Amino acid sequence: MRIEAANLEASRPLVLAVDDSIDVLRLLKARLRHETLDFETATSGTEGLEMAKRLNPALILLDIELPDIDGFEILRQLKERPETVQTPVIMLSGLSSAHDKVTAFDLGAVDYVTKPFDIAELRVRIRAAIRTHLLLQMLAQRAQIDGLTGLWNRAYFDRRLSEELARCARHERPVSLAIFDIDRFKLINDTYGHPAGDAVLTGFSSLLRREIRETDIPCRYGGEEFALIMPDTCPQDALAVCERIRTTLEQVAWPRHPDHAVTVSIGIAGSNRCGFHTEGAWLETADRNLYAAKSGGRNRTIWSIMDAAGRSLPKAG
Ligand code: GH3
Ligand code: MG
Ligand code: MG
Repeated sequence: MRIEAANLEASRPLVLAVDDSIDVLRLLKARLRHETLDFETATSGTEGLEMAKRLNPALILLDIELPDIDGFEILRQLKERPETVQTPVIMLSGLSSAHDKVTAFDLGAVDYVTKPFDIAELRVRIRAAIRTHLLLQMLAQRAQIDGLTGLWNRAYFDRRLSEELARCARHERPVSLAIFDIDRFKLINDTYGHPAGDAVLTGFSSLLRREIRETDIPCRYGGEEFALIMPDTCPQDALAVCERIRTTLEQVAWPRHPDHAVTVSIGIAGSNRCGFHTEGAWLETADRNLYAAKSGGRNRTIWSIMDAAGRSLPKAG
């Protein structure tokens, strides 16, 4: 599981300066060298747009008078593209009329600094813009994370499931989905208390994270149910992963109840060459298999392959 925003403050933010004056770029680079940031430059609008898309900078310093594309037009394009719409832009321009400033802010610039600029002032404006940007990114990511377990939450799961199914269908790649439900979890709450139940949920989440690939997407689906999207994973491999998780869990000695093992039932839906089933069909299949695992005695995995016709043939793990 990759958590990018968590490391944001530790990394060096990248500032991209777009200006046709080599002297201005050189001056900026020299005067910002003691800041904790990386610095890249572009001398034309076309190059600036391309670099903004490729490098995903934390901030863009943008001149208005450029040889090829007008800075306002660049700003408009940056705000139109999903990759750069969130990137803060400070206009850095010799134009100082109120009309130019109004236009820049209307188009989505976060700040406007006129040339010749005072470097001390520019520095604090850069820091402020980056700080706000990082905070917004962190908030956006927190909104997708489950508070108790630190896994992705249900809203994130719903979005990623449709994205991954579409992506795997487009490229005819395998994909698998697993739903986990802790067995007799209510009994743990009732016998050892709610904190013991919470410890099982966080413990299971850590185990899940440890046992999966970096590209897998582990989510808390609700209560004591978890979902795992496994892109580029055929059902047979998904079964092996889930069985490893299941057998590891049953061996855990829980500090609050060392003699009471916790088990999990698992339902898998997978495809070797992802077809065009709806998310609903995937969830229904995984859920049906989970239900079969519960009624078959719990602590087991039932899996099935979504074939081209959308039918699935359940198998016990
Ligand atoms: P089964 O084997 O059929 O899945 O039985 P179960 O007891 O696990 O299932 P049931 O749906 O009856 O109970 C789930 C319980 O999970 C009920 C609910 O109070 C508890 N629960 C849901 N969210 C949390 C949570 O965040 N913390 C704790 N401690 N308990 C939770
Ligand atoms: Mg349940
Ligand atoms: Mg349960």
